[in-house]
Amino acid sequence: MTLSFSPDDIRKQSVITESKSPVSEAEMQQAVRTLLLGMGEDPDREGLRDTPKRVVKALKFLTSGYHQSLDELLNGAVFHEDTNEMVLVRDIDLFSSCEHHILPILGRAHVAYIPNGKVIGLSKIARICEMYARRLQVQERLTQQIADALQGLLKPQGVAVVVEATHMCMVMRGVQKPGSWTVTSSMQGVFADDARTRQEFMDLIRLSNDGFMSVSFQSDRPLSVKKFQQFLDYQLPDIVFRAKGVLYFAESPKRHLFQLSGKRFTINDSEWTTTPKNQLVLIGRKLDTLFLLQSLNNCLTQ
Ligand SMILES: [Zn+2]
Repeated sequence: MTLSFSPDDIRKQSVITESKSPVSEAEMQQAVRTLLLGMGEDPDREGLRDTPKRVVKALKFLTSGYHQSLDELLNGAVFHEDTNEMVLVRDIDLFSSCEHHILPILGRAHVAYIPNGKVIGLSKIARICEMYARRLQVQERLTQQIADALQGLLKPQGVAVVVEATHMCMVMRGVQKPGSWTVTSSMQGVFADDARTRQEFMDLIRLSNDGFMSVSFQSDRPLSVKKFQQFLDYQLPDIVFRAKGVLYFAESPKRHLFQLSGKRFTINDSEWTTTPKNQLVLIGRKLDTLFLLQSLNNCLTQ
């Protein structure tokens, strides 16, 4: 199942109904029972007797976003309005599930747009976030889908979405880094093109983080290699003590994905202009999310 929609696709999304599932509720419950047995548990003991039923119910709720569409959700709540002021909804609680482990992703979304004749009810912005969150997700796609949905619905002058989240699959298992936050952003239109508008948005959402973190950054505009080198040479040493990173160039040479998280790094210049995937892993102790996002945005060519 593909979960990414281009803005043009969004209006075409039909209402998906519950009946689409080829698997019965009983079969799902049986699968949970099998999982319990696999864990060495006794699914028939008193405390677990109703667990398969409860797990299936919970999973269906947590993925109920598959059965919603934007049309249904909005119910016509798009209005004509002549305003050029930024509309910002910050600190929207997000509860999602990662598609790799089906474990929670907990975080917040900050969503802004600058209208171009059309506005949407503020509560609907939260509902759009919720619809995409209630699916199996990766944080980058969730961020992009929220931005694309607003872009498609309102054709605004620009859309900005920042999602900051912590992933239970990282906190409870694997690298076990409590307090690690991942920040992803999608900037479109004036937010991508105009540094002052972007700055205003960033100031308004004032993110900060003391712990380890990772930052993902994507853009459709190419990165200026010269500016990026300057950023690494002059700005990064102030906030990060050492770096080890590889920057790869992605599917398209214009798409960038940066990830920053908490270990030492050194930059290897020779690797990052030639590799096929655009990925930079930088690791530091105390990083300022906003500063990094701004700096990376400033490295884009105009
Ligand atoms: Zn995961």
